[in-house]
Amino acid sequence: MPDWDAVIIGGGPAGLSAAIYLGRFRRKALVIDDGTGRAERIPKTHNHPGFPGGIEGDKLVARIREQAADYGAQFLKARVTDLERGADGFVLETSEGEIRAPFVILASGSKDNDPDLPGVEGAVDRGLIRLCPVCDAYEVIGKRIGILGKGPKGVREAQFLTTYSEDVTLIHLDPDNPLSADDRAALKQDGIELMESVIDQVHIENDTIEALGIAGEEHRFDVIYGALGLTPRSELAHRAGAATNDDACMQVNRHMETSVAGLYAAGDLVLGLNQISIAQAEGALAATDIHNKLRARERDDGRTREPLPDEPT
Ligand SMILES: Cc1cc2nc3c(=O)[nH]c(=O)nc-3n(C[C@H](O)[C@H](O)[C@H](O)COP(=O)(O)OP(=O)(O)OC[C@H]3O[C@@H](n4cnc5c(N)ncnc54)[C@H](O)[C@@H]3O)c2cc1C
Repeated sequence: MPDWDAVIIGGGPAGLSAAIYLGRFRRKALVIDDGTGRAERIPKTHNHPGFPGGIEGDKLVARIREQAADYGAQFLKARVTDLERGADGFVLETSEGEIRAPFVILASGSKDNDPDLPGVEGAVDRGLIRLCPVCDAYEVIGKRIGILGKGPKGVREAQFLTTYSEDVTLIHLDPDNPLSADDRAALKQDGIELMESVIDQVHIENDTIEALGIAGEEHRFDVIYGALGLTPRSELAHRAGAATNDDACMQVNRHMETSVAGLYAAGDLVLGLNQISIAQAEGALAATDIHNKLRARERDDGRTREPLPDEPT
């Protein structure tokens, strides 16, 4: 009999929210996390409901984690390296040894495709380089905005940002695949400047980014958005045989169950709006379905719920 009702891979907003729900369903949940999440990169979120004035990403994660611990969730700092579906559940290989569970929630998130610029991490911390206009473009209203992008996706992101500023420049990074005539016309119509020379130098001084193009042109921005997309961290799902779409995002049903029975996915690695609130909702849906399935199994077997370790018998 496995030690856990469910193991959650990933201790970001999706995984920790699932852990809160499982704990309150009086289930034994283990959260395995390797400390490389997107939520931890957020300098300060201002759009997460319930936090007027905003909250730093690491503080928010610490609060959700504390709440999960209050309801009995256990934590393991480790990296999950393999996931297999066995006859009676899942076998997880981790940097700390093997773990088994009848249900698994994959909440491993996605990785930002960061722009290849010097000092990116420090600039993200200071909000000079940003990665998510839905998250924080409100904070740069009226500023000089540069967008590093490729193809139509870069064009769409630049267009999105015109809600916030009239000074928007798309820095197109793919000289081998120039933008189509339609894309160029769309940029022109929206008053977006197009810069096509490759950036070979970037200076970040105080609160300004100075980008020097190959032709020696000089551009100054208050903020640069990287619009280079995300890479879903769905390798473990592939190993377990679960289906993903062309962009490697997990395919799930309305309960967040993947194509492999008992394996759930929640958060940024599922196709949809990559936001904390969505990740939390998906974690809650997955946890609730797992609890209902465990109850059905217990009914069928004439068993009662497994007692928690500190529960009086
Ligand atoms: C700079 C920035 C600013 C943002 N601002 C906002 C904002 O203002 N508002 C908003 O709603 N959203 C914002 N976001 C998006 C938000 O961070 C994500 O939508 C959210 O973190 C998704 O939660 P998640 O739990 O799916 O993934 P994550 O937060 O990425 O957590 C995934 C966890 O899985 C763990 N993990 C992955 N693989 C493994 C493995 N193999 N073994 C063990 N552990 C593993 C990681 O360590 C990580 O802790 C921002 C993102 C960035 C980068």
